[in-house]
Amino acid sequence: MKLGCNVIRDLLPLYADQICSEESRGLVEEHLADCKNCSVLLRQMRSEEMESSLETEAVDVIHRQANFFKRKSAVIGAAIAGVFMIPVLVCLIVNLATGAALDWFFIVLASLLTAASLSIVPLMVPDHKGLWTLGTFTASLLLLFGVICIYTGGTWFFLVSATVLFGISVCFLPFAVHAEPVRSLLGSFKGLTVMAVDTLLYVLMMGVIGVYVDASVFWRLAPRISFPCLVLAWFVFLLIRYAKCNGFLKAGLCTALIGVYSFFANYLVNRWIGTESSIPAFHPFIWRVDTIDGNIRWIVLLVGCITGIVLMVYGISVQEKKDI
Ligand SMILES: [Zn+2]
Repeated sequence: MKLGCNVIRDLLPLYADQICSEESRGLVEEHLADCKNCSVLLRQMRSEEMESSLETEAVDVIHRQANFFKRKSAVIGAAIAGVFMIPVLVCLIVNLATGAALDWFFIVLASLLTAASLSIVPLMVPDHKGLWTLGTFTASLLLLFGVICIYTGGTWFFLVSATVLFGISVCFLPFAVHAEPVRSLLGSFKGLTVMAVDTLLYVLMMGVIGVYVDASVFWRLAPRISFPCLVLAWFVFLLIRYAKCNGFLKAGLCTALIGVYSFFANYLVNRWIGTESSIPAFHPFIWRVDTIDGNIRWIVLLVGCITGIVLMVYGISVQEKKDI
């Protein structure tokens, strides 16, 4: 019996998977011997099948490997945690035996927690390792400060905590906002959030410092010295993030601006807080204690402006070429 191509094509998937009856197989093979088109179709079907099965296998292997590493890190994490328990127990026993009060035991415990946040947490946590590590490290560090402060009878806890928080935020927040799920939560406001949080923590830090030092002098000077720096940081950020011009132009503007800022900032801030100050003279060939500060500021100003102008001119020429 001769079958038409359409009937054979209906049977081909069953034939390729070797699940059709003996009789159908005979009919398909008989047809394939004469029909080139159906033979080509069968070959295509088989190679597609092969590809998809290879793909599934690859995904499977990756998945198995990931699970293997996850299990392995969990085991290593648990082993390290076990090792960490040894000094905790030893200290507990020694502390109880010698003083009967758990004083320095808590300091050891808090220090080990800080170390654990950097070693055990990244190994044991299945997802968002970076965020968990940063979070637990910050929390355990604050706990350590708190414990030491209590046991030494200090009053410096808030001063140190506010300063360290600001430092951690400046160094690590730019990376933290790029980690999921913070990344999707913030969308296109990552840079703005980093700047806002850093500014708030800076103000908090200054506020806390103000409590610990002579308030009348501090509040007269600190805001006037800080304010121009904050304005510069925000201006540079807004320019780089939001200005609609090319990178060379932005880099040029920022470089020139920072050159001018570092030259005049000292003079202007001194005038603002009521201290005698003058624009320094430039003595490029006299390097003495009394000329070194002025010379360096002049060099920063000149190098900043020249580099800035070169970058800006190049940026404008690139922009014009693009426009043409
Ligand atoms: Zn055919």
